[in-house]
Amino acid sequence: PADLYGETRKNSMGVNLANDDDLARLAEQINAAVQPWAATPLVPGAQSSAPLQEVTNPADRREQVGTWQAADAATIERALANAVAAQPAWDAMPASSRAKILEHAADLLQARMPQFMALCTKEAGKTLADGVAEVREAVDFLRYYAQQARQMLAQGTTLPGPTGESNQLFLHGRGVFVCISPWNFPLAIFTGQIAAALVAGNAVIAKPAEQTNLVGYHMTRLLHEAGVPADVLQFVPGDGATVGAALTADARVAGVAFTGSTQTARAINRALAARDAAIGVLIAETGGQNAMIADSSSLPEQLVKDTISGAFGSAGQRCSATRILFVQRDIADRVIAMLAGAMAELKVGDPGLLSTDVGPVIDADALAMLTTHAERMDAEARPIAVVAPGEDTEHGSFFAPRAYEIDSLDRLQREIFGPVLHVIRYDAEKLDAVIDAINATGYGLTLGIHSRIDETVQKISSGVRAGNCYVNRNMIGAVVGVQPFGGEGLSGTGPKAGGPHYLARFCTERTLTINT
Ligand code: GLU
Repeated sequence: PADLYGETRKNSMGVNLANDDDLARLAEQINAAVQPWAATPLVPGAQSSAPLQEVTNPADRREQVGTWQAADAATIERALANAVAAQPAWDAMPASSRAKILEHAADLLQARMPQFMALCTKEAGKTLADGVAEVREAVDFLRYYAQQARQMLAQGTTLPGPTGESNQLFLHGRGVFVCISPWNFPLAIFTGQIAAALVAGNAVIAKPAEQTNLVGYHMTRLLHEAGVPADVLQFVPGDGATVGAALTADARVAGVAFTGSTQTARAINRALAARDAAIGVLIAETGGQNAMIADSSSLPEQLVKDTISGAFGSAGQRCSATRILFVQRDIADRVIAMLAGAMAELKVGDPGLLSTDVGPVIDADALAMLTTHAERMDAEARPIAVVAPGEDTEHGSFFAPRAYEIDSLDRLQREIFGPVLHVIRYDAEKLDAVIDAINATGYGLTLGIHSRIDETVQKISSGVRAGNCYVNRNMIGAVVGVQPFGGEGLSGTGPKAGGPHYLARFCTERTLTINT
């Protein structure tokens, strides 16, 4: 049916940041929401004995914004036992009732946009525009999967059969799902994974990235308030090596939804396979080595604008970000000069200010990795531009965006998760080699094309294996139900988040045949 693809559904409203009154009101609400937050495991019947840890603001490490506490072994055990016990009744509920709870959560979240923006800024360094986008995407995921569940799960599908026989296909939750989400979309991806798993009829154990427990904790509380039972959705924070590993190795877990590195996805896959238990399902969305290809027919102004947002938006901390710009030699000098000019306009600094384009990177480890990469590039590549460090950034984990010209993709052994752009010139007759080089990375997440020549667009889009291809625009910011998001190869297993096939993967199928 048409609305299985979301055609009757509307995406959520944002805020007009260009309107001074709206912005002033929003800023006031955000500031009022800032407080010392605290995140603890949410597991009925368990109290963790782990020590409290500080949460500090990535934009200014002197500012403590809250505390969090990891789950200990007894809490993990209790969470698994609770989830196993609670799941059958949750799955037996009509899917429309679960959908209604998600829709209620969407309304609550929409109404609390400023509070969640405050959390996203203070804990994850999100700029105001990114904070609005986070809340909107999370709201969209809740509504989209609710709608999908009504379509796919609310009743069985009647199938043809011989006279005297009725055949129906039903979808059910698989059991207990562990949702392991990343810090770069601490609200949107956290919520998307959970919403899909829950509405499909699974009990969920949510383990966010260690860097963003506060956001995850508050979203879990909101889902409880909306009507998800406390033992059906449990919040089990901790690091991947202990808490994540304990959960994914447990025989009671039916599946894992994971967004993060390819390496961790592989470890989870191994853990699931090694259990003496039913074969676990892994839905993994991992990294990318994303390229934009621009030929000489592209419009330089638009190309530069889209490259800037793709490479440096969200401080480059998106899996979808533009890491490499292949630019046809004929226009390369001009584009590179314009790029350097546009970069000089970027403002790095306090993510709470509307004038800021680039906020901090997530933590000291990210900063160290980027600094090491920049040192290597300074020695091996031709620097194009380095953005000036912002004012008052010395106490935060800030990394000024930069761009380098390199001679070949071989120089980049792995994904550089931050605001670094690599530019490579190519000759028109070597386009095939460019396509081959991109495919040879093994990743396949996003691809950008700037060209006004239909055959070129066709050649590149059909030649490069990538999950999301964007032509003559930027290559980030997939919209739920509009651009289903996710990659292939080293970039993930699929199915795509915010797409019509995602929910089915969280379900098991049961056929009922009755001899009438
Ligand atoms: N969905 C996001 C986008 O389209 C990226 C998600 C991620 O970084 O994991 O930009």
